[in-house]
Amino acid sequence: MMIATPAWPPRSLPRLYVAPPLSAGVLVALDGPQANYLGNVLRLKAGDPLLLFDGVSGEWLASVAEAGKKRMSLAVEQSTRPQEAVPDLALAFAPVKKGRVDWLVEKAVELGVARLQPVITQRTIVDKLNLDRMRAHIVEAAEQCGRTSLSTIDAPVKLEAYLRSLDGSRALYFADETGGAPAATAFAPGPATLLTGPEGGFTPGEAAAIRQAPGATAISLGPRILRAETAALAGVAAWMAAVGDWG
Ligand code: SAM
Repeated sequence: MMIATPAWPPRSLPRLYVAPPLSAGVLVALDGPQANYLGNVLRLKAGDPLLLFDGVSGEWLASVAEAGKKRMSLAVEQSTRPQEAVPDLALAFAPVKKGRVDWLVEKAVELGVARLQPVITQRTIVDKLNLDRMRAHIVEAAEQCGRTSLSTIDAPVKLEAYLRSLDGSRALYFADETGGAPAATAFAPGPATLLTGPEGGFTPGEAAAIRQAPGATAISLGPRILRAETAALAGVAAWMAAVGDWG
Protein backbone atom coordinates (compact mmCIF):
# COMPACT_ATOMS: atom_id res chain seq x y z
CA MET A 1 0.00 0.00 0.00
CA MET A 2 1.41 3.42 -1.05
CA ILE A 3 2.01 5.77 1.92
CA ALA A 4 1.17 9.35 0.82
CA THR A 5 4.06 11.68 1.60
CA PRO A 6 2.54 14.66 3.46
CA ALA A 7 2.90 17.85 1.34
CA TRP A 8 5.57 20.32 2.49
CA PRO A 9 4.90 22.96 3.53
CA PRO A 10 1.53 21.81 4.88
CA ARG A 11 -1.35 24.11 3.85
CA SER A 12 -2.34 24.11 7.53
CA LEU A 13 0.56 26.39 8.46
CA PRO A 14 -0.38 29.88 9.73
CA ARG A 15 -0.58 32.26 6.79
CA LEU A 16 0.01 35.97 7.02
CA TYR A 17 -0.06 38.96 4.69
CA VAL A 18 2.88 41.32 5.16
CA ALA A 19 3.69 44.45 3.21
CA PRO A 20 6.05 43.89 0.26
CA PRO A 21 8.74 43.17 -0.66
CA LEU A 22 9.39 39.59 0.42
CA SER A 23 12.38 37.59 -0.81
CA ALA A 24 14.61 34.77 0.47
CA GLY A 25 16.84 35.83 3.36
CA VAL A 26 14.75 38.86 4.32
CA LEU A 27 13.93 39.42 8.03
CA VAL A 28 10.38 40.68 8.61
CA ALA A 29 9.77 42.64 11.82
CA LEU A 30 6.27 42.39 13.23
CA ASP A 31 4.62 44.25 16.10
CA GLY A 32 1.06 45.18 17.12
CA PRO A 33 -1.87 42.86 16.22
CA GLN A 34 0.15 40.56 13.92
CA ALA A 35 2.85 39.93 16.57
CA ASN A 36 0.13 39.41 19.17
CA TYR A 37 -1.72 36.98 16.88
CA LEU A 38 1.34 34.84 16.14
CA GLY A 39 2.88 35.06 19.60
CA ASN A 40 -0.01 35.06 22.02
CA VAL A 41 -2.90 33.53 20.05
CA LEU A 42 -1.08 30.90 17.95
CA ARG A 43 1.81 30.74 20.48
CA LEU A 44 4.47 30.39 17.79
CA LYS A 45 8.03 29.93 19.12
CA ALA A 46 11.45 30.51 17.56
CA GLY A 47 11.95 28.04 14.69
CA ASP A 48 8.22 27.52 14.03
CA PRO A 49 7.31 27.67 10.31
CA LEU A 50 4.60 29.81 8.70
CA LEU A 51 3.60 31.08 5.28
CA LEU A 52 3.83 34.71 4.18
CA PHE A 53 2.59 36.55 1.11
CA ASP A 54 2.93 40.19 0.08
CA GLY A 55 0.41 40.43 -2.72
CA VAL A 56 3.07 40.84 -5.43
CA SER A 57 5.77 38.15 -5.21
CA GLY A 58 3.79 35.03 -4.38
CA GLU A 59 3.95 32.97 -1.21
CA TRP A 60 6.98 32.26 0.97
CA LEU A 61 7.94 29.79 3.66
CA ALA A 62 9.31 31.57 6.71
CA SER A 63 10.19 30.70 10.28
CA VAL A 64 10.09 32.61 13.54
CA ALA A 65 13.58 34.04 14.14
CA GLU A 66 12.77 35.83 17.39
CA ALA A 67 9.55 35.72 19.40
CA GLY A 68 8.85 38.42 21.96
CA LYS A 69 5.64 39.37 23.84
CA LYS A 70 5.04 42.42 21.65
CA ARG A 71 7.44 41.94 18.75
CA MET A 72 8.43 39.15 16.46
CA SER A 73 10.88 38.74 13.61
CA LEU A 74 10.41 36.25 10.82
CA ALA A 75 13.12 34.85 8.55
CA VAL A 76 11.96 34.37 4.95
CA GLU A 77 13.37 31.10 3.59
CA GLN A 78 12.03 29.96 0.23
CA SER A 79 9.30 30.60 -2.28
CA THR A 80 6.44 28.12 -2.03
CA ARG A 81 4.15 29.47 -4.77
CA PRO A 82 4.46 32.06 -7.53
CA GLN A 83 2.10 35.04 -7.68
CA GLU A 84 -1.28 33.86 -8.95
CA ALA A 85 -2.81 35.34 -12.09
CA VAL A 86 -6.26 36.42 -10.89
CA PRO A 87 -8.97 36.54 -13.59
CA ASP A 88 -9.86 40.13 -14.51
CA LEU A 89 -13.28 40.33 -12.87
CA ALA A 90 -14.46 43.45 -11.06
CA LEU A 91 -17.56 43.50 -8.86
CA ALA A 92 -19.43 46.83 -8.90
CA PHE A 93 -21.98 46.54 -6.14
CA ALA A 94 -24.48 48.80 -4.43
CA PRO A 95 -23.52 48.60 -0.75
CA VAL A 96 -25.86 46.82 1.65
CA LYS A 97 -26.02 47.06 5.44
CA LYS A 98 -22.76 46.84 7.46
CA GLY A 99 -22.60 43.15 8.52
CA ARG A 100 -23.79 41.99 5.13
CA VAL A 101 -21.35 44.16 3.16
CA ASP A 102 -18.47 42.75 5.25
CA TRP A 103 -19.69 39.25 4.40
CA LEU A 104 -20.03 40.17 0.72
CA VAL A 105 -16.47 41.51 0.56
CA GLU A 106 -15.04 38.44 2.32
CA LYS A 107 -16.85 36.04 -0.01
CA ALA A 108 -15.97 38.01 -3.15
CA VAL A 109 -12.27 37.71 -2.23
CA GLU A 110 -12.62 33.95 -1.64
CA LEU A 111 -14.34 33.55 -5.03
CA GLY A 112 -11.46 35.31 -6.81
CA VAL A 113 -12.71 38.84 -7.55
CA ALA A 114 -9.83 41.14 -8.55
CA ARG A 115 -11.43 44.49 -7.85
CA LEU A 116 -14.36 45.79 -5.78
CA GLN A 117 -16.17 49.01 -6.70
CA PRO A 118 -18.96 50.25 -4.41
CA VAL A 119 -21.57 52.09 -6.52
CA ILE A 120 -24.09 54.47 -4.92
CA THR A 121 -27.52 54.28 -6.58
CA GLN A 122 -30.78 56.14 -5.85
CA ARG A 123 -32.10 53.37 -3.62
CA THR A 124 -28.80 52.64 -1.90
CA ILE A 125 -29.38 52.90 1.87
CA VAL A 126 -25.72 52.78 2.93
CA ASP A 127 -23.64 55.43 1.14
CA LYS A 128 -20.60 55.49 3.45
CA LEU A 129 -18.20 52.58 3.66
CA ASN A 130 -15.27 52.23 6.03
CA LEU A 131 -12.68 51.32 3.41
CA ASP A 132 -10.01 50.51 6.01
CA ARG A 133 -12.35 47.96 7.55
CA MET A 134 -13.08 46.58 4.08
CA ARG A 135 -9.35 46.28 3.37
CA ALA A 136 -8.83 44.43 6.65
CA HIS A 137 -11.56 41.99 5.58
CA ILE A 138 -9.85 41.57 2.19
CA VAL A 139 -6.51 40.71 3.84
CA GLU A 140 -8.14 38.27 6.28
CA ALA A 141 -10.08 36.52 3.51
CA ALA A 142 -6.97 36.27 1.32
CA GLU A 143 -4.97 34.82 4.26
CA GLN A 144 -7.73 32.25 4.83
CA CYS A 145 -8.40 31.12 1.27
CA GLY A 146 -4.78 30.80 0.13
CA ARG A 147 -4.74 33.75 -2.29
CA THR A 148 -1.37 35.36 -3.06
CA SER A 149 -3.00 38.53 -4.44
CA LEU A 150 -5.25 41.02 -2.67
CA SER A 151 -8.48 42.31 -4.21
CA THR A 152 -8.51 46.07 -4.43
CA ILE A 153 -11.46 48.19 -3.27
CA ASP A 154 -12.09 51.66 -4.63
CA ALA A 155 -13.89 54.55 -2.98
CA PRO A 156 -17.68 54.57 -3.50
CA VAL A 157 -18.82 56.34 -6.68
CA LYS A 158 -22.25 57.52 -7.81
CA LEU A 159 -23.83 55.32 -10.53
CA GLU A 160 -24.07 58.18 -13.08
CA ALA A 161 -20.38 59.02 -12.68
CA TYR A 162 -19.51 55.32 -12.83
CA LEU A 163 -21.41 54.82 -16.09
CA ARG A 164 -19.76 57.95 -17.55
CA SER A 165 -16.33 56.46 -16.71
CA LEU A 166 -16.93 53.33 -18.80
CA ASP A 167 -15.20 53.17 -22.19
CA GLY A 168 -16.39 49.75 -23.40
CA SER A 169 -12.97 48.13 -22.86
CA ARG A 170 -14.60 45.81 -20.34
CA ALA A 171 -17.78 43.78 -20.62
CA LEU A 172 -20.38 45.09 -18.16
CA TYR A 173 -22.70 42.33 -16.94
CA PHE A 174 -25.69 44.01 -15.36
CA ALA A 175 -27.60 41.71 -12.98
CA ASP A 176 -31.23 42.56 -13.73
CA GLU A 177 -34.00 40.74 -11.92
CA THR A 178 -36.50 41.94 -14.53
CA GLY A 179 -34.77 39.75 -17.10
CA GLY A 180 -31.68 39.30 -19.23
CA ALA A 181 -29.44 36.73 -20.89
CA PRO A 182 -29.22 33.52 -18.82
CA ALA A 183 -26.07 33.66 -16.68
CA ALA A 184 -25.19 30.12 -17.75
CA THR A 185 -24.46 31.27 -21.31
CA ALA A 186 -24.07 35.06 -21.11
CA PHE A 187 -20.38 35.34 -20.32
CA ALA A 188 -17.58 35.69 -22.86
CA PRO A 189 -13.85 35.49 -22.03
CA GLY A 190 -12.13 38.85 -21.33
CA PRO A 191 -12.00 41.64 -18.73
CA ALA A 192 -15.40 42.02 -17.13
CA THR A 193 -17.39 43.85 -14.49
CA LEU A 194 -20.47 42.47 -12.76
CA LEU A 195 -22.89 45.20 -11.61
CA THR A 196 -25.49 44.42 -8.95
CA GLY A 197 -28.12 46.61 -7.36
CA PRO A 198 -29.22 47.55 -3.84
CA GLU A 199 -31.93 45.83 -1.80
CA GLY A 200 -34.55 48.05 -3.41
CA GLY A 201 -33.16 47.39 -6.90
CA PHE A 202 -32.24 49.89 -9.60
CA THR A 203 -34.87 52.48 -10.58
CA PRO A 204 -36.33 52.03 -14.10
CA GLY A 205 -34.33 55.11 -15.17
CA GLU A 206 -31.09 53.67 -13.79
CA ALA A 207 -31.77 50.29 -15.43
CA ALA A 208 -32.32 52.01 -18.79
CA ALA A 209 -29.10 54.03 -18.43
CA ILE A 210 -27.11 50.90 -17.52
CA ARG A 211 -28.45 49.03 -20.55
CA GLN A 212 -27.19 51.93 -22.73
CA ALA A 213 -23.71 51.85 -21.20
CA PRO A 214 -20.76 50.75 -23.40
CA GLY A 215 -20.22 46.97 -23.20
CA ALA A 216 -23.40 46.39 -21.17
CA THR A 217 -25.32 43.09 -21.19
CA ALA A 218 -28.26 42.47 -18.86
CA ILE A 219 -28.07 39.03 -17.25
CA SER A 220 -30.61 36.97 -15.35
CA LEU A 221 -29.58 34.98 -12.27
CA GLY A 222 -32.67 32.79 -12.44
CA PRO A 223 -36.41 33.20 -11.74
CA ARG A 224 -36.16 34.11 -8.05
CA ILE A 225 -35.47 37.55 -6.56
CA LEU A 226 -32.13 37.19 -4.85
CA ARG A 227 -30.94 39.38 -2.00
CA ALA A 228 -28.40 41.90 -3.23
CA GLU A 229 -25.39 40.12 -1.70
CA THR A 230 -26.62 36.73 -2.90
CA ALA A 231 -26.99 38.08 -6.44
CA ALA A 232 -23.47 39.51 -6.36
CA LEU A 233 -21.91 36.21 -5.30
CA ALA A 234 -24.11 34.10 -7.59
CA GLY A 235 -23.04 36.26 -10.53
CA VAL A 236 -19.37 36.04 -9.58
CA ALA A 237 -19.60 32.25 -9.21
CA ALA A 238 -21.33 31.89 -12.57
CA TRP A 239 -18.68 34.03 -14.29
CA MET A 240 -15.80 32.19 -12.59
CA ALA A 241 -17.24 28.82 -13.61
CA ALA A 242 -17.92 29.94 -17.20
CA VAL A 243 -14.85 32.03 -18.11
CA GLY A 244 -12.85 32.50 -14.91
CA ASP A 245 -10.26 30.21 -13.32
CA TRP A 246 -12.59 27.48 -12.08
CA GLY A 247 -12.35 25.66 -15.41
N1 SAM B 1 -36.01 45.48 -6.93
C1 SAM B 1 -36.24 44.19 -6.53
C2 SAM B 1 -37.42 44.12 -5.68
O1 SAM B 1 -37.42 44.83 -4.72
O2 SAM B 1 -38.28 43.34 -6.08
C3 SAM B 1 -35.16 43.45 -5.80
C4 SAM B 1 -33.80 43.89 -5.95
S1 SAM B 1 -32.71 42.57 -5.53
C5 SAM B 1 -33.06 42.38 -3.85
C6 SAM B 1 -31.15 43.36 -5.49
C7 SAM B 1 -30.32 43.23 -6.75
O3 SAM B 1 -29.95 41.86 -6.93
C8 SAM B 1 -31.00 43.61 -8.04
O4 SAM B 1 -30.87 45.00 -8.27
C9 SAM B 1 -30.21 42.81 -9.07
O5 SAM B 1 -29.02 43.46 -9.40
C10 SAM B 1 -29.89 41.54 -8.31
N2 SAM B 1 -30.80 40.43 -8.55
C11 SAM B 1 -31.63 39.85 -7.65
N3 SAM B 1 -32.27 38.79 -8.20
C12 SAM B 1 -31.83 38.70 -9.49
C13 SAM B 1 -32.10 37.81 -10.57
N4 SAM B 1 -32.94 36.81 -10.42
N5 SAM B 1 -31.47 38.03 -11.75
C14 SAM B 1 -30.58 39.05 -11.89
N6 SAM B 1 -30.27 39.93 -10.90
C15 SAM B 1 -30.88 39.74 -9.72
